[in-house]
Amino acid sequence: MIFLNNKLVPKKKALISVFDHGFLYGDGIYETLRVYKGIIFKMDEHIARLYRSAEMIGLTIPKKPDEITKAVNETIAANRQKEAVVRITISRGPGPLGLDPSLCPKPTFVIISNRFRHYPAAYYSKGVKVSIVNTRRNYGPALDPRIKSLNFLNNVLAKIEAKNSKSYEALMLNYQGYLAEGTISNVFFVNKKGILCTPAIKVGILEGITRGMILDIAGELGLKSREGCFRRNDMYHAREVFITNTSMEVMPVTSVDSVRIRGKAGRLTAMIHNRYREKVSEYIEAYNK
Ligand code: PMP
Repeated sequence: MIFLNNKLVPKKKALISVFDHGFLYGDGIYETLRVYKGIIFKMDEHIARLYRSAEMIGLTIPKKPDEITKAVNETIAANRQKEAVVRITISRGPGPLGLDPSLCPKPTFVIISNRFRHYPAAYYSKGVKVSIVNTRRNYGPALDPRIKSLNFLNNVLAKIEAKNSKSYEALMLNYQGYLAEGTISNVFFVNKKGILCTPAIKVGILEGITRGMILDIAGELGLKSREGCFRRNDMYHAREVFITNTSMEVMPVTSVDSVRIRGKAGRLTAMIHNRYREKVSEYIEAYNK
């Protein structure tokens, strides 16, 4: 079942207009959430980012935060999913041709929930390969990567390059050549001094919710961390590399382009991922109390 505007409808009946400006112009926003044991993880953070994205494109979300939470819960319940990945999409809605948002009085609101499919265990033990692609991350003043928008062609073009080089994920540099982020992930590396590094928000990236958690975990574990401007070479000389997002959590990277970083997942990467999993369990326990 799909939640469309105000109700649950069967997948086959979940249809939207060809005049929807989300379809015509990529005009809209979204969030991806993870459900563990029937509980939406970090809902408040995702909702906050959804409203931030909406504000940045001048879109009024047609629901209150608690109504969105209720709708997500209804969707996962209707689909009988305890382990799921949920996508909330809000587009500008249907309207005549033309870019003016005021042509669309009614945003389209959609929730899709899919059963969570585990990633192959080898991805976590052996790590994945990534490529630093030619496609640069959107220039912030042109289209701010902090907006989680439906306009995803930048990321799609990068993904095509990654696929062509048989890589699991593409890493994009920003217009200045600084390491930015993956197509659907943030990136971290451990440098030669053992410092956990990740691109700063000002480089022009999405402020990942997982990224924020990893920085907190680094603090808790007493690891030094640095948010900054890094180059391609910093990746090649890293001791460990990993990528993060809501559904993959912490995914070890063992090759960057043709450079083999290491033979298997790194020690700090595994430590951070274990702590992340503990935090998920703590969250679920606290929720159930
Ligand atoms: N960067 C981009 C471009 C993304 O699409 C995502 C996935 N939402 C992320 C980073 C990771 O964000 P999060 O940890 O909130 O899932």
